[in-house]
Amino acid sequence: MAGIYIHIPFCHQKCNYCDFYKTLNTSRKAEFLAALKKEALERVSYLNGAPVESVYLGGGTPSVLNEEEIGSLLDFIRKCFTVLSHAEITLEANPDDLNPGYLRSLNDLGINRLSIGIQSFNDFYLKKMNRRHNGQQAVASIENALAAGFSNLSTDLIYGFPGLTLQQWEKTLKTMFSYPITHLSAYHLTYHEGTPFYSWLRKGKIRELDENESIAQYYLLLDESSKAGFEAYEISNFARQQMYALHNSAYWTGKPYLGLGPSAHSFNGIKRRWNIASVTSYNRAVVNKMPYWEEEELTDNEKYNEYILTRLRTCWGVSTDNLENRFGEKYSAMFKEQAIKYLTTGKIRENSGVYTLTRQGLFISDDILAGFMII
Ligand code: SF4
Repeated sequence: MAGIYIHIPFCHQKCNYCDFYKTLNTSRKAEFLAALKKEALERVSYLNGAPVESVYLGGGTPSVLNEEEIGSLLDFIRKCFTVLSHAEITLEANPDDLNPGYLRSLNDLGINRLSIGIQSFNDFYLKKMNRRHNGQQAVASIENALAAGFSNLSTDLIYGFPGLTLQQWEKTLKTMFSYPITHLSAYHLTYHEGTPFYSWLRKGKIRELDENESIAQYYLLLDESSKAGFEAYEISNFARQQMYALHNSAYWTGKPYLGLGPSAHSFNGIKRRWNIASVTSYNRAVVNKMPYWEEEELTDNEKYNEYILTRLRTCWGVSTDNLENRFGEKYSAMFKEQAIKYLTTGKIRENSGVYTLTRQGLFISDDILAGFMII
């Protein structure tokens, strides 16, 4: 089984926290969509004919594309690859794009999962983030999506940003869980270099949220999601009734995936490849048959690091049997040795050879994961 990721690099507005590759200039959209199809055609053999169980249109903002553009792109992908009839087809969308007519069309086109960038229901915070939508539009997008028949609905939220109180975060979570969504991705604000939030922090215009407050917000997220019947199956991802994101789960469980479009990453189990992060250079290079990517073959140590980084973030954890089968006894023994300090401090638990993060370990997962890396 394999997945396909398609990066749509256009946005109508840049959010103050975002470091994904995107551009506000949509004038090259048609040229880009032609280049994208050309790339897909050139790379039909990348997945070795593996059946495709997920197609993910991410960005950027895929909902800047109209119905015809999305339909034509999906038709092309279906012609090039063996996309299973029950494949998960996700479209990332901004709330203000999701009007009833557009949603009906997406449904007709076979999009069966939406990932809506809600981030907050609060107008003040949405303005701070420079989101284009307001709280009312956030609510309307969920209601419209449900009315249009989308039963597999994922939403994104951000917490841990300056000024967000625990009470306000609780209100956001309660509003979110009052809807029958199936999946939630909730991320603590990260100050990515090059973003306005990063520069404001450096200049002392804003202050990071106190760490205890950040931890309290994360624990509240764990508690409220659990009360609402969600399973924390990954550090930042929560699913109801095992409606895990098939696409993201493929990344976390080491399945191959093909990434199309500028800045998209691909992995075939041996090599990692990433496309150039510029729509202009991408379009030109694809058309002129010039290289538009870099790639590297992973060493055994890098494959091991990758495995630990992705698996330990999930509820499926790291199985030492699996580790031994994939990497040999040496790596498995090293992992067990390194895990001791986290087991004794209660950050990791072990059950029949499977190691997972505890509630205490989840919030400091980055430090724990760094502790396992072979440098
Ligand atoms: S968060 Fe989404 S909408 Fe905002 S700038 Fe980034 S890619 Fe665009």
